[in-house]
Amino acid sequence: MHDLGQANSTDILIIGSGIAGLSLATALGYEGFSVTVIDGASRPAHAPPGKELSDWDLRVSALTPASIAFLESIGAWKGAVSHRAGPYGAMRVWDANGSGRIAFHADEIDVPSLGHIVENREILQALLQSAQTLPDVSFCWEHALEAMAPADPGWSVTCANGVQFHADLVIGADGARSKARQLLGMPTREWSYAQTAIVATVELDCDHAETCWQVFLESGPLAMLPLADPHKVAIVWSLDNAAHRRVVDLSDRAFVDALNRAMGPSGPVAGSVGPRASFPLSQAHALDYCDESFALVADAAHSFHPLAGQGINLGLTDVAVLTEELVASRAGGLALSSAVPLRRYQRRRKTENLAMMAAMEGFKRGFGTLNPLAVVSRNLGLNMVDQQGWLKRWFMRHAIS
Ligand SMILES: Cc1cc2nc3c(=O)[nH]c(=O)nc-3n(C[C@H](O)[C@H](O)[C@H](O)COP(=O)(O)OP(=O)(O)OC[C@H]3O[C@@H](n4cnc5c(N)ncnc54)[C@H](O)[C@@H]3O)c2cc1C
Repeated sequence: MHDLGQANSTDILIIGSGIAGLSLATALGYEGFSVTVIDGASRPAHAPPGKELSDWDLRVSALTPASIAFLESIGAWKGAVSHRAGPYGAMRVWDANGSGRIAFHADEIDVPSLGHIVENREILQALLQSAQTLPDVSFCWEHALEAMAPADPGWSVTCANGVQFHADLVIGADGARSKARQLLGMPTREWSYAQTAIVATVELDCDHAETCWQVFLESGPLAMLPLADPHKVAIVWSLDNAAHRRVVDLSDRAFVDALNRAMGPSGPVAGSVGPRASFPLSQAHALDYCDESFALVADAAHSFHPLAGQGINLGLTDVAVLTEELVASRAGGLALSSAVPLRRYQRRRKTENLAMMAAMEGFKRGFGTLNPLAVVSRNLGLNMVDQQGWLKRWFMRHAIS
């Protein structure tokens, strides 16, 4: 890995060095492609080593075993990530309005865990460490995408600092508000949930017992996710904007009291909270994932409500599938700028991502109402799935794959 200087030619240019961009660069680098990554931000900093409340990254991801296997395959799981990854073997989900509840346990499907909760910055560091071993992967920090013009083949890309690149293939991994997607005029279907998520690290009065908890409240879902420290959890509390305004500025003590009221007796008791941050929530789906010599991956192609914790898991599947298609197309003698692998990638990924989007919308609508019929049917639905072993196992296998 090396830092590039001025005008550059590269086979593949990836815009954005979030988890998606870095994992794609690493996966392609492992396959022997020559890749350059640009990002408007500076190189991500190392995490502080401590385990105080303020030492934990406020952004965490619930990685499925399938995502972990993919990270492992590109040398980014052992070491940096795994020593601060909290495994979870159980999930408890319930409806605050009624008696509906469901519990999942890894034993039910004979797997060691249902996944791991990992701080995003640990995942980024692990990916950077792995990329560092690859001679054909280069990074340009503080190089924000500004303009793109078609070249033959590929694209000429200009950064805000004036540096230019030429690439046969460009990948937009620049997040939900993708500038690359906008520059190419690729339409999206999008809507706001009128909700904002508060994220924070919380100290519990008890051991978290490697359990994820999620309660569906009328104002939005609240999740507690177990960290690598047995008494600490990450919270993701999605709130309608009016409710968010009431909660966000509470003192730490009042916030913890509000959190405990929201969790109710079915959840663990919180004792203290660290710094908090808020993220407005919206959903967006690009109508097409590819254009001439160009493809979108992860949040740049689709962003979801965090209630199912699937955003980056689906993003990593995009990355794995796109890598597979580019490798197959090279083996078949096609040029990097060929449309074939990009169309195949889109076909393989769009259906699953759309299905997840529809499911998230269904959850959001189904649980965001006090309509008595909806309340009764969602409670019955949760209890029914909980009592039907085969159906529950089917859901669990689907959720971790
Ligand atoms: C509160 C919350 C909780 C979540 N929890 C989970 C979870 O438990 N599990 C899960 O799977 N997902 C979760 N998600 C979703 C997950 O965080 C995202 O899917 C994931 O971070 C997207 O990664 P990405 O690399 O696509 O985009 P990003 O992380 O947004 O990275 C984009 C990168 O592009 C760069 N960039 C942007 N514009 C430019 C430009 N013009 N030029 C150059 N670079 C640019 C940015 O600096 C950034 O580095 C959660 C989301 C939220 C909001």
